[in-house]
Amino acid sequence: MVTKPEAQHKPQAVVIGGGPAGLMAAEVLADRGVSVLLAEAKPTLGRKFLMAGKSGLNLTKDEPLDTLMSAYDEASDWLRPMVTEFGAPAIKDWARDMGQDLFTGSTGRVFPDAMKASPLLRAWLARLDGMDVARQVLWRWTGWQDGALRFDTPAGRQLLRPDATILTLGGASWARLGSDGSWATLLAERGVDLAPFQPANAAVSVSWSVHMQPQLGQPVKGVAFRAGRFASRGEAVISKRGLEGGGIYAVSRGVREGAPLLVDLAPDQSEAQIAARLGAAGTKASLSNRLRKAARLTPAQIALLNEFGRPLPPDPAQLAHVIKHLRIAHAGLRPMDEAISTAGGVARTALDDGLMLKALPGVYCAGEMLDWEAPTGGYLLTACLATGRWAGLAAARRLLPAQG
Ligand SMILES: Cc1cc2nc3c(=O)[nH]c(=O)nc-3n(C[C@H](O)[C@H](O)[C@H](O)COP(=O)(O)OP(=O)(O)OC[C@H]3O[C@@H](n4cnc5c(N)ncnc54)[C@H](O)[C@@H]3O)c2cc1C
Repeated sequence: MVTKPEAQHKPQAVVIGGGPAGLMAAEVLADRGVSVLLAEAKPTLGRKFLMAGKSGLNLTKDEPLDTLMSAYDEASDWLRPMVTEFGAPAIKDWARDMGQDLFTGSTGRVFPDAMKASPLLRAWLARLDGMDVARQVLWRWTGWQDGALRFDTPAGRQLLRPDATILTLGGASWARLGSDGSWATLLAERGVDLAPFQPANAAVSVSWSVHMQPQLGQPVKGVAFRAGRFASRGEAVISKRGLEGGGIYAVSRGVREGAPLLVDLAPDQSEAQIAARLGAAGTKASLSNRLRKAARLTPAQIALLNEFGRPLPPDPAQLAHVIKHLRIAHAGLRPMDEAISTAGGVARTALDDGLMLKALPGVYCAGEMLDWEAPTGGYLLTACLATGRWAGLAAARRLLPAQG
């Protein structure tokens, strides 16, 4: 734990929540000359950020701004000024400035060379240690008391009356990493408009038949998923509980909204091509050999076809149609706590243009706790960093109006 003497002459801000949005808010506030206390409920900072790095920390997406903004769907208009100021180019510069070498994958996803988040987090905390940012961990914010922020801490209850408060408390998934969404009650009690939390970038539950046992853990590659207006070419993994992975996460919003989940097992072949090849293969070879050789399906794809397409039509044209439009029978999305991110949270209408709560002047919100959602691909961290920065700068302007 690092604590620093408080500078008497400086305005004070408390940032609550030590994820990427909070660290960014703390950084810009301190940079503008505000004395910051960063309070985190968990014993260490950035736990979800570190988890995000386990499968490769996808920091942002290197693509034209309009394309990038479209990922935020109905939130793209209001997020646009924030991401315009701190989008992919600025995030890359910022990370490089902290000594992180980066690379951009073929789809534009940007990662640190180290892939994991720990080197960046270490460098970031070292940067904050060199600024006027004090940190307190195991400080759980529990609301307000007589107008003061109230925290449960190892030393008992603490009350703070900062000049500005930035809430960066995260969404409502992976509660064990800190973002348990319990803040929603505290804000609702204060008249803040909230949209209900919902799973985003979630897996689907499937009760597999015994025939699927040999496929558990297998990736399904080279397919295209579709649910309503959402489509993806990413891959999925057949897990014990269902289907998970980027390809499914990208269409999970469609599933959440009630659309059927369809998979095209051969997106690079037309229905007519598949039908012609299946027809030419005749019926001498076994069906699975024909599916493998003529339709070029992998064992995992054939297993899915058998699982969801039976009884398979003998007619090549009808079978080709099933291969291209296989409906996945599922039991809905996996529970919200397992989701990569959550939709819902503080409504845009509850905030002014600086992300300050209209109901609570001087209190700002940023990061995943705001009501926006986006697919995986670096969009989540991009918006967390951009909104954290935006809220921090707006608070600094309020506290130090002379700086403009
Ligand atoms: C497995 C996984 C992989 C991911 N991979 C990526 C990826 O590659 N790229 C990407 O863009 N995104 C990824 N994400 C999403 C990304 O990690 C999150 O969107 C991001 O961490 C949210 O940042 P945040 O600062 O808003 O909230 P969080 O990182 O959730 O931080 C919120 C903090 O607030 C603290 N807190 C909560 N309540 C209180 C309280 N009452 N008092 C004090 N502190 C409190 C929490 O303990 C937590 O530390 C991934 C997520 C997961 C789960």
